[in-house]
Formats: sequence, C-alpha cells, structure tokens
Amino acid sequence: MLSSPLPLLTVALAWALPATASPIAGPGPNSLHAAQAAFNNPFPHLVHPDGLHLAHEPTTPPPSELAGTTGAQERYDGHAVWRVNWHDMGDTAKEGILTLLETLNIDIWHMSAASIDIRVPPALTYIRKVLPSFTTYVPDVQALVDMTARDVAEDEPEGGWNVSSIDTPFHDAYHKVEAVYAFGDALKAAFPDIVEEYDIGTTAEGRTIRAWRAHLKAADGEPEHEELEFVIQAGQHAREWVAPSASVYFLHSLVLDATADPNSHAANLLRHFTFTIVPIVNPDGFEYSHDHSRMWRKNRQDVGGLFCKGLDLNSNWGHKFKAGRTACSDSYAGREPFESLETKAMAYYLINGTITDTPPRDHKVRAFVDLHSYGQLFMFPYAYSCADFPPDAENLMEAGLGVAKAMRQAQNGEGYQTGQACDLTFRSTGEAIDYVYGTGDTRWSYSAELRDTGTYGFMLPASLIRPTGDEVNAGLRYLAQFIYETDIDKP
Ligand SMILES: [Zn+2]
Repeated sequence: MLSSPLPLLTVALAWALPATASPIAGPGPNSLHAAQAAFNNPFPHLVHPDGLHLAHEPTTPPPSELAGTTGAQERYDGHAVWRVNWHDMGDTAKEGILTLLETLNIDIWHMSAASIDIRVPPALTYIRKVLPSFTTYVPDVQALVDMTARDVAEDEPEGGWNVSSIDTPFHDAYHKVEAVYAFGDALKAAFPDIVEEYDIGTTAEGRTIRAWRAHLKAADGEPEHEELEFVIQAGQHAREWVAPSASVYFLHSLVLDATADPNSHAANLLRHFTFTIVPIVNPDGFEYSHDHSRMWRKNRQDVGGLFCKGLDLNSNWGHKFKAGRTACSDSYAGREPFESLETKAMAYYLINGTITDTPPRDHKVRAFVDLHSYGQLFMFPYAYSCADFPPDAENLMEAGLGVAKAMRQAQNGEGYQTGQACDLTFRSTGEAIDYVYGTGDTRWSYSAELRDTGTYGFMLPASLIRPTGDEVNAGLRYLAQFIYETDIDKP
C-alpha cells in the first residue's frame, strides 16, 4: 500500500488557503477557474512522486473510525453544511471539486445538477477559497445529531409492538435494527395469512438482512396470474434513517387497509402483487450510525485498509461499475462489483429469487424501488450516464410524474421532482436501479430520495416519519396501480 500524501497535502493546502472571516459567502466569480485548476492539479504546491494518484488511506484514522474503536460517539461540534452552488460549472469542473472533496475526506450529503451539500469540519473551512458561492445550510450539525438521538425509541414495549393500528407509537420514533425486525415479526404474527418473512443474506458482522413479504390470495372467481413481485428496499446508506422507517410504515398501512376491507384498493393491490420490504439492506452500517457515528453511510465490511472499513453499497452494484480509489471515502465503491455481501445477496434475490445455489423459484420481480434520503426526488435509470436512455423512459417518466403527484396530494404531502437519476443527482456509477433495470428484466426501477430538501438532512425529526410514510404510501400504491394497468390488465 502506498504511503499517503494526504496529511502533507492538507498542510500545503492550509498554508495556501488561509481561512477567512465569513463562512456565509463563497469567493465568487473566480471560483470556476479555481475549481478547474483544482481538477487539473488540486495541489499545485506539492508534487507527489505518484503524480495525482490518490492515496488509499490517510496515515491517521478518520474520527469516524476512532469512534468505533473507543466505543464513543463521534461528535460534529463546529461542523456546518454548506450548499455549494455549482449550477454554472461544466462536468469537468464539477469532477475537480469532487476530487478535491474526496481527497480531503469531506462528507457529501447531497448532489444535484445545481448544487452540492457538504459537511465541513472547522479545520477545513479554508476550502471556501476554491469553491463557487455557497450558503450555510446547517450551521450546527451536532445540534441536529443531538436532536435525532432523542428521537430513538429505546426498547420494544412490554408484550411487543401493537400492530393493530397505524397509530402505534412505533411510527413516532426511530429504532435500531432489532426493534425494526421485531416489528416485522409482529406483523407476521398478527397477519399470518398475508405476511411472511424471508432472509435475504448475512452481513460481514453476522447480521441477517431480513425481508417481509405481503400477498393476498386471489378472491373467488378472480383469475390467477403469475406471481408479480414489487420489491422495496431501504437503508443501503446507513445514516438515512427515515427510509427504513417509511418502508415499514408503507407495509403496515397496506396490510391494515387490506384486512379492514377486502374490497379496498390496498386489498386489490395485494391480490395482484407480492410486496417485499427489505427495510434495512445495510444493518451493520445502520447500527453503527446509531452507536458510533451518526454520519456513517457505508457497510462495515473489512476492505483491506489499515483504518478504514466499509463499502458504499449504492456504488457497488454490477452495472457500469467503477472501482473506488480511496477506502476511507464515504462513497468507496470497492475493487469489484458485488464485493459487498449486502449488494450480492440483494442481487441474487432480485434476479434469481434465492440466495444460495438452490434453483430459482418461480419468481419475477416486476418493480423495484430503492429508498434513500434526502432531496425529495423520484428517479428512474440510468444514474451512471444521461447518454444511456432507457427504452422504457417514456413509461417510467409518466409513472414517475404520477407518483410525485400522488405524494404531493398525500396528507401534508410535499413536492417531489421526477426525472432521470443522472440528471437529478449528477451521475454516479454502480447504483442499484441501474443494475436492476440494466441487468435484470425489471422494467420498473426507481430510486427515491425522501424528505427533506436540506433543512434537517439525514436528521429528519421523528415527527416527520408519518408524513413521509404517507407520501411513500400514496406514491407506491399509485405506481403499483399504474404498472397493473400498463403491464397486466391489458385489454
Ligand atoms: Zn442514499
């Protein structure tokens, strides 16, 4: 392994770019040139023998790893989130900014064609010199972390979760892995004819990736058709806590509505589709984001690094995969596609229907939705490039627009944008929706960024779980109905 130039580079950059007084405004029009220069050579003051080849790891562990070894919670005192306006920059200049951020290990919260949200520790505020204009979006990250820490429910109530009503306090708090799983099991116990449990695979730390599937037998006289599965996965990215919560809320609500009235829309959907919820694709990372590092995004797999663990699951799928450069990066894709146990297990499930060598069962995943936060987006493939336009783009767009409308019309619904992922988030490789669409024969593949648009980011208050869940509920039901009418109920 290469010894890392990073600390030296940081020193050089700190020397070259002394901090200035105001964190609110960026340096203005010269920033474009600065960013382009940064891409050509982000560190003109220092030439490493390897040229600009990025190191795999810094020589000291980043704080997120230290938190894991000491058992302490990582703190973010003085960290702010800046929204950097890069609307006017070309792709090459944007790549320059991204290279710089990756080199400095700066955490990217959200990316769009217009702007990028980054978490900046106090020691790195000098980077404002090479950034275009920005505004401070979250002035005190630690305050938000403290807030959602109070939003986590400690324990399952005595006697287990009451699942007979959507008003259960489960949906008013965030939960750790075991509590989410206990709720899924409570659903299965309460509705044994409808809900079944399925184990997708096992993680590096030995946790099970669990799924709950719901289906209603066809009513008398109703024609049977092949099993159509609608898979909703959440929690690839550990810190995006609202996504697992919203997926569970969706399943719970669907099952309750279907059992309350066999003629309901929910019951009809459950007779035509099997809805499979994988609430926490990345349970190791999710637990780590609760116990050690609230900003943790990756899984917790050993990737051969000295200090840094984990792969970014949503860069590790096997369609247009691009290997990662720095193991410590929050978006480290790994050396090979499906290096992560989680993406591998999910891909087996989605394509073959099994996790082992047993023959594929009669199984067809018709629709796939990957839940994330934040940004309020509902997107279709491809993510890796806008030059590759899916043959089903027209249908995907039409359904997506309907989903966004349904979400907005949900109780207290918010606006969501629809479009091709590469357009809405700036391109990224190795994503789940690209794999599912490009490799499998699942025509309906989407990823959603749930609430919000940056006020709280990943630390969405628990009081907003229900409104977000209602939006997901309305959107996914609309999508299932659209698919049914387009693909199945043809005249
Ligand atoms: Zn995500």
